[in-house]
Amino acid sequence: NKSKVWEMGNSESGKLLELSNLKVFSYGDLKIATKSFKSDALLGEGGFGKVYKGWLNAETLAPVKAGSGMMVAIKKMKPDSLQGVQEWQSEINFLGSISHPNLVKLLGYCSENDELLLVYEFMPRGSLESHLFRRNTNREQLSWKTRLEIAIDAARGLAFLHSSEKQVIYRDFKASNILLDGNYNAKISDFGLAKFGPSEGDSHVTTRIMGTFGYVAPEYIASGHLYVKSDVYGFGVVLLEMLTGLQVLDTERPTGKQNLVEWIKPSLTDERMLKSSIMDCRLEGQYSPKAALETAKIILKCLESDPKKRPSMNDILEKLESIKA
Ligand code: ADP
Repeated sequence: NKSKVWEMGNSESGKLLELSNLKVFSYGDLKIATKSFKSDALLGEGGFGKVYKGWLNAETLAPVKAGSGMMVAIKKMKPDSLQGVQEWQSEINFLGSISHPNLVKLLGYCSENDELLLVYEFMPRGSLESHLFRRNTNREQLSWKTRLEIAIDAARGLAFLHSSEKQVIYRDFKASNILLDGNYNAKISDFGLAKFGPSEGDSHVTTRIMGTFGYVAPEYIASGHLYVKSDVYGFGVVLLEMLTGLQVLDTERPTGKQNLVEWIKPSLTDERMLKSSIMDCRLEGQYSPKAALETAKIILKCLESDPKKRPSMNDILEKLESIKA
């Protein structure tokens, strides 16, 4: 019974699935692994918690001395945040039951003394967003080739979620949720808003509107109708950010607060503009005009206002692979 499955995976339903493949950590062990959540182990802070690095034995997942064993990322949810509790549950229910090379691996979780934590594989190069936009950090600039490979990886992850077998709508696709390993392989993280939903292109599930401004599909904002193709819109926005180096959330660009997508759409069909002016200048000379044009075509299709006109993630994957070849 499909509706039952959807309810189980609904991040708003508040039930935790029983999953045997995840380790249930004790709070004491995670305290040892992170050296008592010291500030120098802090990797970053998100909306619902802080992420620390920690050290575990690669086989037993027991805490070990810093510098030995395997590095992991440990997310400690903010206490008393209802949305944090829901995110914690959703992450366990989704990531705990699926596994794919382009989804961040969840190793286990902890719920003890009002503390909720999640333990993930460590992604040493941080988020795609930090490489594309935080120019003051010492992050390496991403080449065109690497950007294409990242787009392909992320498309594989989304296509897997959208498959008729999984039927997951991710709902929060954005550059900050794509993490990079040491070789710049990309994995999708953060399943706090994921939802079971129909994989057929023209069916939808109606749900409370959630997501990140700029990446959320127009039909979802307008009606609360969520399609697998709503994720495809978010993918188009991220691909646009990779091609142009412009950030959808940046309100300080010359056009002011105007929506990046609407502002840039006409340039995406203009070959002259595509040859230079709207492309990320750091990519100068790295792509062929044909590759830019083909990528722009994919972006425009993803950004169609009618979700039914957007391509599937499998179609996009095929196109990106042919551009890379
Ligand atoms: P947000 O809520 O903003 O999506 P998160 O709470 O998921 O952020 O993560 C906060 C920070 O921790 C991010 O800047 C991210 O780079 C870092 N981080 C999250 N997960 C990992 C991981 N598995 N490996 C390395 N860094 C991570």
